Amino acid sequence: MRLGTLEAGGTKMVLSVGNENNELLEQTSIPTETPAKTIPAMVEWFKSKDIIALGIGSFGPVDLNPKSQTYGYITSTPKQGWTNQPLLPTLQESLHVPAMIDTDVNAAALAEWKLGAAKGLNSCMYVTIGTGVGAGLVVEGHLVHGLLHPEMGHMLLQPAKNDPTPDGFCPFHKGCLEGLASGPAIAKRWGRKAYELPQDHETWELEAWYLAQMCMNAICILSPDKIILGGGVMQQKHLFPMIRKKTQELLNGYIRHQAILEKIDAYITEPGLGTKSGATGALLLAKQAAGIPEG
Ligand code: ADP
Ligand code: ZN
Repeated sequence: MRLGTLEAGGTKMVLSVGNENNELLEQTSIPTETPAKTIPAMVEWFKSKDIIALGIGSFGPVDLNPKSQTYGYITSTPKQGWTNQPLLPTLQESLHVPAMIDTDVNAAALAEWKLGAAKGLNSCMYVTIGTGVGAGLVVEGHLVHGLLHPEMGHMLLQPAKNDPTPDGFCPFHKGCLEGLASGPAIAKRWGRKAYELPQDHETWELEAWYLAQMCMNAICILSPDKIILGGGVMQQKHLFPMIRKKTQELLNGYIRHQAILEKIDAYITEPGLGTKSGATGALLLAKQAAGIPEG
């Protein structure tokens, strides 16, 4: 049984074919240009793949309310040309298959909860720190949507005193997480790509301070059973111990749970599925769209 998955991102679209055993079989990537160019290219690839359903993990904001007239539309993105784009309806109609959509980070959280680092737990939060910053949340087996869906990348933080650009670079907010800690924010602050900066560069102290504030806020507001940090910037593995230590310092002993006081290495962790969390989550959504029961 062949199922299609789409990870819709601001810079690229990653398309895969997988099966009902949660295996990803083949993959391609298409640059995100205008919808008029990119959507037909995606349709063409999937048409030759004989898929029976499609699961989409998308950048946001995206309308996730199935009762809404604009279900599956990208809504108010700053990404050129994608505002009010009917992403899910167009793909569904062109491919004649059932489809399901969620945010890219909710899809990743679902996969990590079912099959990865948070398997067997009651809840988890998955955060990507990449071109953007976003977080998805599973609580008691359900993806959290609420009013629209969480936009944790835009939580406001306390700027560091030694940050040369303390307002950050989000076009909507001063001092939000994404504007301060995304890959492009690091690059704009220093005029060099994040991955070019050496391990002893001062940026990593700032980065750990911002991500630790995010962890503290998440722990206090959501109380997740695990926080999973993924995305390109987290390829800097030395950030993990720095973030864990600063999170403990910020919490200052207030949350008296051994997960935080003693076992924080297992509490703030890398994705169990590596770089496959998003695509695997989209595959789980495709299975739901196809009505395949979870075994
Ligand atoms: P996307 O968010 O577009 O899906 P990624 O999660 O790979 O993709 O994030 C891309 C961002 O991560 C870029 O800004 C890039 O500079 C940054 N990045 C990628 N690899 C590294 C690395 N090894 N160290 C630091 N930053 C990185
Ligand atoms: Zn913002």
